[in-house]
Amino acid sequence: MDDLEQFRLETRQWLEANCPESQRQPMRQEDQYWGGRRGKFPSEDARLWFERMRDRGWTAPEWPTQYGGGGLSPQQGRVLKEEMKRINARTPVYGIGLWMLGPAVLEYGNEAQKQQHIRAIVNGETRWAQGYSEPGAGSDLASLQCKAEDKGDHFLVNGSKIWTTAADKCDWIFCLVRTDPDAKKQEGISFLLIDMDDPGVSTSPIPLISGESEFCQTFFDNVKVPKENLVGELNKGWSVAKALLVHERKLMAEMGSDSPRRVLVPNVAAREYLEFENGKITDNRLRSELTDYDMQMQAVALTHFRTFEEKAAGVRSAAPLVMKYVGTEAEKTKSELLLAIMGSRGLGWEGDAFTAEEIDTTRLWAMSKAMTIAGGSSEIQLNLIAKNVLELPQS
Ligand SMILES: Cc1cc2nc3c(=O)[nH]c(=O)nc-3n(C[C@H](O)[C@H](O)[C@H](O)COP(=O)(O)OP(=O)(O)OC[C@H]3O[C@@H](n4cnc5c(N)ncnc54)[C@H](O)[C@@H]3O)c2cc1C
Repeated sequence: MDDLEQFRLETRQWLEANCPESQRQPMRQEDQYWGGRRGKFPSEDARLWFERMRDRGWTAPEWPTQYGGGGLSPQQGRVLKEEMKRINARTPVYGIGLWMLGPAVLEYGNEAQKQQHIRAIVNGETRWAQGYSEPGAGSDLASLQCKAEDKGDHFLVNGSKIWTTAADKCDWIFCLVRTDPDAKKQEGISFLLIDMDDPGVSTSPIPLISGESEFCQTFFDNVKVPKENLVGELNKGWSVAKALLVHERKLMAEMGSDSPRRVLVPNVAAREYLEFENGKITDNRLRSELTDYDMQMQAVALTHFRTFEEKAAGVRSAAPLVMKYVGTEAEKTKSELLLAIMGSRGLGWEGDAFTAEEIDTTRLWAMSKAMTIAGGSSEIQLNLIAKNVLELPQS
């Protein structure tokens, strides 16, 4: 047995012994744990599961052990993911810190920043918000205007960020700020870490069509940010910003990596809603659309596998850029198909007339559209693919 197979065996045994039964069930939104000072565990089992994973460093399996991570190789990380998926083990903690900020600080941060922030993220002690977009700077992010003036021992930050997901529940926010208004737009930007409890930081919720509010606008009114909270070099924040976006897009690309067999049974037990004749779905159009989708997902799964192998072999690949587009568009198609399968049962939004799973599925359908915008819209991804991958002429 090779080392990786040995690791798989031990991981399987550990998961069997340590993952509570209740943490092997499909996850609803309210079951998610996001950590941070205001974080609440949805149940005692969720706390137990989180603590066991955290103590092994498996909340951030591939981060260095010196900062509390699991120190796993990418291959071992993949085995862990596969073994968790095998028993439907829930993700013990979610967060922008784990997905995006941590990798960026590990790459661009200094030792003091790693000591302060990385272990706190692994341990679920801090919850992070992303402060990139502004009212006039979304797709054209480099046009951002939120400014940070050099005041000797600190920066003075003024301006606002929009669409900051859950900023009202977060402890920290990482922000792109303009530190040189006279430089070319990408060259005058810096990357700052700001404590949400600092005087002058405030949030205002943005109501959504669902009646809930996931987003905030975050305001900075003469906020004093210590100089040591600058990540990377002054006016070189665009490089950190781009590196972080790669992690964000990679995460979103994985949305489309479900194996094809799971397509028919994601949230709702879709088979209950379908009519069959001689083992075939009776609705021809739906059957054909599902087949198309399954074929595409087969190709997506294989491409993910290829990308992983290319990365392990040190081959530069365009796949991550392409996969954000493909993954989030596929998620949208999946949600459309699920609603088509559910028929009128897919029209529920709230109330007792629909099951909780039906309502979740309808709400996920709305969310699937947002994912083709967050982290760079599909149109922008296509522009990047045209320019950087296909090298098409610019108009
Ligand atoms: C679910 C969700 C979560 C988010 N979370 C955060 C967060 O936590 N922090 C944060 O900072 N931001 C967040 N965002 C914001 C997100 O990054 C922006 O919405 C996104 O970059 C698009 O910017 P915009 O909304 O200003 O749209 P715009 O840039 O105004 O674009 C409007 C439309 O025009 C199209 N378009 C624009 N320029 C071009 C072009 N050159 N070529 C072709 N088409 C173009 C776009 O594709 C889009 O369809 C989130 C967004 C969503 C949906």
